[in-house]
Amino acid sequence: TADIIDGKAVAAGVIERVKGARNQLEAETGVRPGLAVVLVGEDPASRVYVRNKSLKAEECGFHSEQHSLSVETSETDLLALIQRLNADPAVHGILVQLPLPKHIDEKKVLLSVSPEKDVDGFHPINVGRLSAGARDEALMPCTPAGSIILMKHALGPNLSGLDAVVIGRSNIVGKPVVQLLLQENCTVTVAHRWTRDLPAICRRADILVAAVGQAQMVKGDWVKPGSCVIDVGINRIAAPEKGEGKTRIVGDVDFDGAVKVAGAITPVPGGVGPMTIALLMANTVTAAARLLGRPELAPIIV
Ligand code: NAD
Repeated sequence: TADIIDGKAVAAGVIERVKGARNQLEAETGVRPGLAVVLVGEDPASRVYVRNKSLKAEECGFHSEQHSLSVETSETDLLALIQRLNADPAVHGILVQLPLPKHIDEKKVLLSVSPEKDVDGFHPINVGRLSAGARDEALMPCTPAGSIILMKHALGPNLSGLDAVVIGRSNIVGKPVVQLLLQENCTVTVAHRWTRDLPAICRRADILVAAVGQAQMVKGDWVKPGSCVIDVGINRIAAPEKGEGKTRIVGDVDFDGAVKVAGAITPVPGGVGPMTIALLMANTVTAAARLLGRPELAPIIV
């Protein structure tokens, strides 16, 4: 059976490096990294995410701000807040929690965040820097970067020449994972909703990344024996075994089937999930180090 990749433990290691870099940055510049998290509306899942991000920022010794706005906030007011945060020297990272209410243009909002403070890595400037291979200037999206760290944890630092298959081509996961794998010199196949004979394509993969949003879609017999499986999916399904009306979280991979075949696999929960928030903290220190003119103090994570 496969080695189970402990995302919590790897994420804790990233956080230790973030704290080290943060201490050095403060010792040399007198400035603490600052993260501002913006939430519009009352979505319960978003509130939990935002709270966890703010708590982790505090644990890392950052200056941490949370801006919770009412669901009726106008686009103009939200853009004005972002402009203030862009100009605020105490804030080095700005995160706008998605999704935004329907009356607000998400693209316009993401475009308004200063690319140097865009710790989610969603601004078109950072997307462009990533695809151009300008990693020294880019801020990398957190979930994709976290996925690469987990692969290297399982396979070692050199991924050159490996066959990688990514299922999913979203802007926030699939596409940036593809860009990062190309930079690691993998041979990359991108599969999506229109892909024909997905199981056969997956069976070629030395590295299989599932970012689909379909519970347990990838079956054990799609997995190449000995390969590394990274399950990005977070899906809630009914769990009658826990009691009536109960649910549980599963990935996009049928874990029980895949664990018998793979060489290494990430569990859900406890795999990619904890990496996302750790990389957000790393990006905040990186943004601070660059904005303070000390890019060499950025933590090297990926
Ligand atoms: P998305 O819906 O934007 O994209 C899904 C992609 O999967 C699309 O490109 C689509 O073409 C493809 N797809 C859908 N059905 C398919 C099928 N049957 N066969 C092949 N391809 C198919 O989703 P997303 O935002 O990229 O997120 C993907 C999953 O990752 C979700 O479960 C989400 O909850 C999870 N996620 C996890 C984290 C984390 O921190 N671990 C972060 C972001 C997203």
